[in-house]
Amino acid sequence: MTPLTSQTLIEVLYLIASILFILSLKWLSSPSTARHGVLAGEIGMVIAIGGTLLRHGIVDYKWIAISLVLGTIVGVPLGMVQMTAVPQRTALSHAFGALCVTLVGTSEFYLRSPDVPRFTMSVLAIEVILGSLTFTGSLMAAGKLQEVLPQRPITYKGQNFVNLALLAVAIAIAAYIVVNPAARTLFPAMIGIPLVFGVLMIIPIGGADMPTVISLLNSYAGLSAAAMGFVLNSKLLIIAGALDGSSGFILSVIMSKAMNRSFTNVLFGAFGQVQPAAAAGQEVRAVRTASAEEAAAILSAANKVVVVPGYGMAVAQAQHKVRELYDALTKRGVEVRFAIHPVAGRMPGHMNVLLAEADIPYDALVEMDDINGDFPQTDVALVVGANDVTNPAARTDPGSPIYGMPILDVDKARTVMVIKRSMSPGFAGIDNPLYYMDRTLMLFGDAKGFVNNIVREFSGNHG
Ligand code: NAP
Repeated sequence: MTPLTSQTLIEVLYLIASILFILSLKWLSSPSTARHGVLAGEIGMVIAIGGTLLRHGIVDYKWIAISLVLGTIVGVPLGMVQMTAVPQRTALSHAFGALCVTLVGTSEFYLRSPDVPRFTMSVLAIEVILGSLTFTGSLMAAGKLQEVLPQRPITYKGQNFVNLALLAVAIAIAAYIVVNPAARTLFPAMIGIPLVFGVLMIIPIGGADMPTVISLLNSYAGLSAAAMGFVLNSKLLIIAGALDGSSGFILSVIMSKAMNRSFTNVLFGAFGQVQPAAAAGQEVRAVRTASAEEAAAILSAANKVVVVPGYGMAVAQAQHKVRELYDALTKRGVEVRFAIHPVAGRMPGHMNVLLAEADIPYDALVEMDDINGDFPQTDVALVVGANDVTNPAARTDPGSPIYGMPILDVDKARTVMVIKRSMSPGFAGIDNPLYYMDRTLMLFGDAKGFVNNIVREFSGNHG
């Protein structure tokens, strides 16, 4: 193929890949089309890589082949993690992407310096600063979520000032290099400082805010890739980076809204510090408990039941048992619906995905705003491994760290039954007054095992 036709082919492939990326994002936004979205994204990426391999400038495929093999060795196990580990897995992918962007930017600088036009040098500086802070920031976020690093925010006086001053120094160095691209010795500082900043930026943020921070880091990784697109003159990278950057940003906004938090509060609020009251936890308050047999009796006497799934259902993988309970109850004429809180679990859409996996009909899933008005007429609210998203302190206690976060009003139901293993707090690390109400029964046990016991009561007692 002549260089011209192969160049045209590459452009066409890139165009197809870009269209597929856009369609992928569009389809991913609804559960019914999400599978198509994943497929479109995958095909788009294969086409993008294929187009890149056709590029004329490639002189040797050996290193590319080695990289592809290494990438596959790392990527395949990453794709097989448990669903509850998806946020940290995503953070790792961002870390790899950001590292790649930083390395490419560095090699481009040393190849081109001192002849780097100002615009190119400016985007190259944005690329490596965002890339390097995203690399260490994402590693820290993954470490916190995987609990290899302490989840609690670590704070000290003047922390925000130190962090922002550090970033300002990196930006000042970048400005100097933009004007003097021959300053090759300063370049490592422009990478080293943001690498440190990435670590310091995440230290004061609590584990509960990590998923939001990860989607913000996703946005940074996307923007740095878009900047790389300008440096390498690749329209595909600019489009893919911009899509990644804007979708990550929009997701962060949606998540912050669902938690009634501002960005500044997420980034600088040190949310998730153990509250003195919860930490002391000395005052032992009485709760009422019930057995699976009693729970089954209460459920079968109900007309309207609302199941509230949360992170514990995901950890226990109890969704299939919940489906069996749903079948047993609906067979007895009980109306069963599922209340979906936008940030229940550990990632957006977590509960929808699990319940869909268990083939629970979509129309039984009701979003928070639509179901909250129904709780006073609900006979039983059955909370399965959810905690923070049901905490009435968010409505009533202005001193609570989650005050103002919209919650599922389960405390308004006639009877509340909560399946969890202990009195341990949820991700926000705070006590839940719901458990001490007169109408609340604690069903202590693993979500899967307990729901199974309730289901067995039904089959045992009623044929
Ligand atoms: P949660 O508040 O973290 O509570 C989960 C509860 O599940 C825990 O109290 C735990 O109690 C229980 N649990 C754990 N393993 C269990 C098992 N095997 N069987 C039964 N129970 C088990 O969860 P949530 O109510 O779903 O709230 C989500 C939290 O994550 C919120 O604070 C939200 O802001 C935060 N968050 C979510 C997202 C998102 O996108 N979804 C994003 C950012 C932040 P025991 O240990 O006593 O069993």
